[in-house]
Amino acid sequence: MKDETKLVVTGRDPEANFGIVNPPVYHASTILYPSLEALRASHAARAKGERVVSYGRIGTPTNWSLEDAVAAVEGGYRSQVFPSGLAACSQAMLAFVKAGDHVLMTDSVYGPSRIFCDKVLSRFGVEVTYYDPLVGSGLKELMRPNTAIVYVEAPGSQTFEMQDIPTLSEVAHKAGAIVMMDNTWASPLFFKPFEHGVDVSIQAGTKYIVGHSDVMLGTVTTTRECWPALQAGANVMGQTAGPDDVYLAQRGIRTLSVRLQQHMENAIAVAEWLKGRPEVHSVLHPALPDDPGHAIWKRDFLGASGLFSFRLKAVSEKAMAAFMDHLELFGMGYSWGGYESLIIFADPSSYRTATMWDNTNPLIRLHIGLEAVDDLIADLKSGFDRLNAVK
Ligand SMILES: *Cc1c(COP(=O)(O)O)cnc(C)c1O
Repeated sequence: MKDETKLVVTGRDPEANFGIVNPPVYHASTILYPSLEALRASHAARAKGERVVSYGRIGTPTNWSLEDAVAAVEGGYRSQVFPSGLAACSQAMLAFVKAGDHVLMTDSVYGPSRIFCDKVLSRFGVEVTYYDPLVGSGLKELMRPNTAIVYVEAPGSQTFEMQDIPTLSEVAHKAGAIVMMDNTWASPLFFKPFEHGVDVSIQAGTKYIVGHSDVMLGTVTTTRECWPALQAGANVMGQTAGPDDVYLAQRGIRTLSVRLQQHMENAIAVAEWLKGRPEVHSVLHPALPDDPGHAIWKRDFLGASGLFSFRLKAVSEKAMAAFMDHLELFGMGYSWGGYESLIIFADPSSYRTATMWDNTNPLIRLHIGLEAVDDLIADLKSGFDRLNAVK
């Protein structure tokens, strides 16, 4: 089955449910057992790793419907839902480290994941070293005997460096570490982490899986080997997600393929237009042929999503505000992956530690939604007119 079909059919069983197309939403904490024998059988099945409805927190068919669709398309063994993308990142890391371990973390990682490493992992005696996202086979020199996780994210949050995941995976595995990836940018559709050596793949479901800017959710998908550790860690940390949110995510994922295709086309069109603007210093989008990460993107990825950045030629704060403040179609706000366009500024020089980032040319991140490209370009053009009027 192709991905588009998997997205439509996986995790649905209308025949088992009066012919109703979408799986029902099970609200559950207590599960009642008809007998002591049934209760004991449920315990035993769960101990063997079987799926049983035994307690709300452990999972219900509502969760499984989404988890199965994500695992099928991302290409892993199984998935587990989490209450947010960040919960998925932090719990995935916690499930695979112990005191005395070492984590190699890309310097281009999603900001709050970095804070989790610095403020929480460090308190438990786990040491984190940040590495240049472009290190490639040079990762070898950074591996230690106690390196448990090599954490990757491609392209990088805000700065969009492409990482050579097959090479990094080979180095990590040779030294006995697992590879954990934040695969949110590509969604489960446009990068197949398990075909490139990744062991644990994280999605901020909040973004494209939900797709409508109204739910916080995360998923972690793993190989068969990594599944028991992830699941045991997640369960005992109390990680679960509300059934109505899970339902909205599984409704969202059914249309992921058409949404992503349009996000990709719209974003590439806007990125190319920006490249031709005199106010723009550079555009950071790996699908553009002259992007430094383009060759890797072309080799490993199946598409691009709607998120990219560009850098303005040095301007005053006032001129930048004139550009950003009065856009009509681009909302100013964090997160992304919904149907609507967004704009936000970022300053990577304020948090990078393994690599330098020169902030002379201010960085602006765009999420390109499903509006007509011409309207988005007209909106940005009016922004540049305002910027030039201030300059
Ligand atoms: C948004 C995001 C997250 C966190 O997801 P939340 O659902 O907002 O907690 C993690 N990784 C990346 C790359 C993200 O963009």
